[in-house]
Amino acid sequence: MANIQAIGVLTSGGDAPGMNAAVRAVVRAGIYNNLKVYGIQKGYEGLLNGYIEEMTIRSVGDIIQKGGTILQTARSKEFSTPAGVEKAYTMAKVFGLDALVVIGGDGSFRGARELSQVGMNVIGIPGTIDNDIACSEYTIGYDTAMNTVLDAIDKIRDTSYSHERCSVLEVMGRHAGWIAINCGIAGGAEAIILPEKKFDIDKDIILPIIDGRNRGKKHYLVIVAEGVGGAVEIAKYIEEKTQIVTRATILGYIQRGGTPTIKDRVTASQMGALAVKLLVEGKQNRIVAVRNGRVTDLDINEALNMTKTIDEDLVELSKVLAL
Ligand code: ATP
Repeated sequence: MANIQAIGVLTSGGDAPGMNAAVRAVVRAGIYNNLKVYGIQKGYEGLLNGYIEEMTIRSVGDIIQKGGTILQTARSKEFSTPAGVEKAYTMAKVFGLDALVVIGGDGSFRGARELSQVGMNVIGIPGTIDNDIACSEYTIGYDTAMNTVLDAIDKIRDTSYSHERCSVLEVMGRHAGWIAINCGIAGGAEAIILPEKKFDIDKDIILPIIDGRNRGKKHYLVIVAEGVGGAVEIAKYIEEKTQIVTRATILGYIQRGGTPTIKDRVTASQMGALAVKLLVEGKQNRIVAVRNGRVTDLDINEALNMTKTIDEDLVELSKVLAL
């Protein structure tokens, strides 16, 4: 057992629905274990500048159902420097923090590792809609974001059918096509263009659309991940080549907001509670992750050295079902 008395919690990088459920779990599990829990506003930027306040059971009341993050989030240039990391560590010590729980993405974990190297005990919780954290099968916000995208696809499909149009929909995912591949399959897309895969516009987009038209399809859907981009240009090219009226929609930040789904709320709650349990047990510098379907943890260095590749079975399935 560790002699930990006070911990801090912050959210960092892009926000994700379910972050609040994770903050709530850290605060409540912390207080349950007789710890003082401090909320840090605006990620590492707030840590550097001392935007740190003690939280109570009540300060996390009525937030489990809310999207965004009550702690707010930020990307901090200053923290990315060695001097910034030292300054953040010093500020954590001013407030008597024995450990820090960081809820965020890959960049936030790299920042946490820097802090661990100057002496801070850190626990990372994966919170990002992109599901692009190598050590974890799941990240908080991913399920909600996919449901938001699917809802948009269903709406676009209605109007595409009425007008016999083609729709090109750009969804989030700078380096990872997890949202694109899953929503493409669930939404019945003719083509799904992923950042992980090279594509040939004629073979991978135009051909399936023409094939589909010749077999009697009345609407067409192309999903493009943000990391590939160019939805407007792709739409123009499709229209020129096929004479099918084509519209591009870039979903953008709508995917980052909204009420978290039950999966996000429950996973975030489990992850927040595990983060506190690890600290109470005296563990140091861990990342909480879903592995083989279970919420577990692993060493931060091991976690950050891992890589993750897109699920080839899903890619194959999307091609078979697009017929
Ligand atoms: P998302 O996946 O939603 O983009 P993220 O956590 O990957 O989330 P980043 O902007 O990459 O978002 O990282 C958040 C913050 O973490 C950065 O603004 C920076 O302050 C800090 N950070 C990122 N990488 C490092 C690093 N190598 N060293 C120190 N700090 C870092």
